[in-house]
Amino acid sequence: DNPIQRKPDWLRVKAPTSREYAETRDLMRGLKLHTVCEEAACPNIGECWKKKHATFMILGAICTRACAFCNVATGKPLNLDPHEPEKVAEAVGNLNLEHVVITSVDRDDLPDGGADHFARTILNIRKTAPATTIEILTPDFMRKPGAVEHVAKARPDVFNHNLETVPRLYPSIRPGARYFTSLALLQRVKEVDPTIFTKSGIMVGLGETKEEVGQVMDDLRAADVDFLTIGQYLAPTPKHAPVDRFVTPDEFESYATLARGKGFLMVSSSPLTRSSYHAGDDFRKLRAA
Ligand code: SF4
Ligand code: SF4
Repeated sequence: DNPIQRKPDWLRVKAPTSREYAETRDLMRGLKLHTVCEEAACPNIGECWKKKHATFMILGAICTRACAFCNVATGKPLNLDPHEPEKVAEAVGNLNLEHVVITSVDRDDLPDGGADHFARTILNIRKTAPATTIEILTPDFMRKPGAVEHVAKARPDVFNHNLETVPRLYPSIRPGARYFTSLALLQRVKEVDPTIFTKSGIMVGLGETKEEVGQVMDDLRAADVDFLTIGQYLAPTPKHAPVDRFVTPDEFESYATLARGKGFLMVSSSPLTRSSYHAGDDFRKLRAA
């Protein structure tokens, strides 16, 4: 009775076939860049790449943390590629992306946690693709003084950092991270530059209660966070944390209603919501409003 094998219908998607999908894939291979879309085997890849939305992963492919929900390799990272910021910027320019999300593994081993790499990536994309909106999804930069400030000063359009789950589940799901460190990071971004939109997200189906989800929403609003994403957790392999249950589309809708009532500017809550899903569409709508 393995829940990974038995997904409900609302989680099934078609295999990608579009020309834009093939072009994006070829370019990523050519430049040897990593995308979360591929590494995480994201179910939305066909839809996102067709619309020219993609999520790049910088700072290498090996993470110094080992979260129980995540499929990225853990271990001692390789040396940084000093030219990665330029390469990512070149790809974003070539692909003519409308919206790009830049994320990374966690690099506790680097003195600045990779903050300068993030900042340089943002500044380079502004040169090669001035019309592209830039969203970053960062690690928590725990014990890296000045790192959050350095990244915020490069002025991404959206600064995203995921809480991932409710505080009670941190020791089992997100060991090595601290709930209040992550909240403080989000608040700090707003203090440095109130014009940057802040964003966070959680996965549900890990054993959290509705009350706990409501509390996370309140904590995020108290930290001035603007956007919220809520999606179904899917175990990448049987070795990862098991799915506790599949949250129904109606429950996702009621989370969305609750979140809007609490004052988030943008909410995406659905089974297939991922941190970067529809990020560009939603952001453009908001800017046009
Ligand atoms: Fe990539 Fe995010 Fe879209 Fe998934 S939801 S395919 S990770 S951009
Ligand atoms: Fe995965 Fe990020 Fe956790 Fe590393 S810190 S294991 S990349 S979720």
